[in-house]
Amino acid sequence: MGHAIDPHTGAIASPIYLSTTYERNADGSYPRGYSYSRTDNPNRHNLETVIAGLEGGTVAAAFSSGLAAIGAVFQALSPGDHVIAPEILYHGTTRILKDIFSPWNLQVSFVDTADKSKVKSAVRDNTKIIFVETPSNPTLSVTDIKAIAGIAHTAGAICVCDNTWATPVLQRPLELGADLVIHSTTKYFGGHSDVLGGAVVGSNDDEFFGRIRKIQQIGGAVPSPFDAWLLLRGAQTLPCRIRNHSESALKISKYLSNHPQVERVYYPGLSEHPGHEIARKQMSQFGGMLSFEVKGDKQRALEVTGKLKIIIRGTSLGGVESLIEHRASIEGPESRTPNTLLRLSVGLENVDDLIDDLSNALG
Ligand SMILES: *Cc1c(COP(=O)(O)O)cnc(C)c1O
Repeated sequence: MGHAIDPHTGAIASPIYLSTTYERNADGSYPRGYSYSRTDNPNRHNLETVIAGLEGGTVAAAFSSGLAAIGAVFQALSPGDHVIAPEILYHGTTRILKDIFSPWNLQVSFVDTADKSKVKSAVRDNTKIIFVETPSNPTLSVTDIKAIAGIAHTAGAICVCDNTWATPVLQRPLELGADLVIHSTTKYFGGHSDVLGGAVVGSNDDEFFGRIRKIQQIGGAVPSPFDAWLLLRGAQTLPCRIRNHSESALKISKYLSNHPQVERVYYPGLSEHPGHEIARKQMSQFGGMLSFEVKGDKQRALEVTGKLKIIIRGTSLGGVESLIEHRASIEGPESRTPNTLLRLSVGLENVDDLIDDLSNALG
């Protein structure tokens, strides 16, 4: 899979195949399977094999970013089709639906996917995709994947799950009935804040996945061989990293939930979290992401981030370094995120150092 010894040299770390083009036989055929690097290349092929394997899928298509992967799934629909998407959702997915696919005449209903009855009543005759993201961004709302996949299948639709925050180490949506899994591999797969990427994994190499493959190969939003190589390297340490992220995040969430300057903590590992029971059923640990509201106002929340010494102010997540973000400011004027909410991507630093850092900043 991702760790094949190079047959020509014995190299244990795989070579990066920069060639954009591949030799044809005299009869015009491509005997080794590769013709042109947008269509496929060995590094991307290895990456797709590994991601599909980790998710328990049969196929995967790697893209140049998570949003390119998400966009490819919606593009595989037809104008006039209907999609149900979560109200609480990574804001880029909301934007791509509202700003790019609504003008293209995709019909979209945003509903609270944590509430099965709301999802059921949003179903229409032309519903083709029920999209879920769990735990979701930024308030870690938990959706019951098995239940929503069931509603999708009864409606003749498919269930697509953005598994970026959980990763296949903690949650395997295809086993719970989802048909496609999405990743922003920029986050935990890469794991070092130095490569953008995305992927769509399919339970079946069916006609719909064929359309996604065509959008990848003809649309051309593909990762470079070096990007694919970095992502594969990240995937090798994903299980160890995600366990460490999860243990630290649980410890920090417990610390914060007892802090007098903290109004509320959002982490599915806490028993008071509304999605805790479902998270326990469908995840093996609760991941490295948490959010919390500080007491006071926006100014006070920003002040807290200004006093941190180890945790870095920055967007994105899933890297070895802890990152904190005032989420409402990046989501813009339409954001429903509370102004006192800070989102924390817990890194791999010593957890007691992280707690000291938060303790000093909160005062
Ligand atoms: C970051 C993120 C994306 C978008 O991925 P990019 O690689 O930034 O395009 C999609 N979904 C979730 C849950 C994310 O966190």
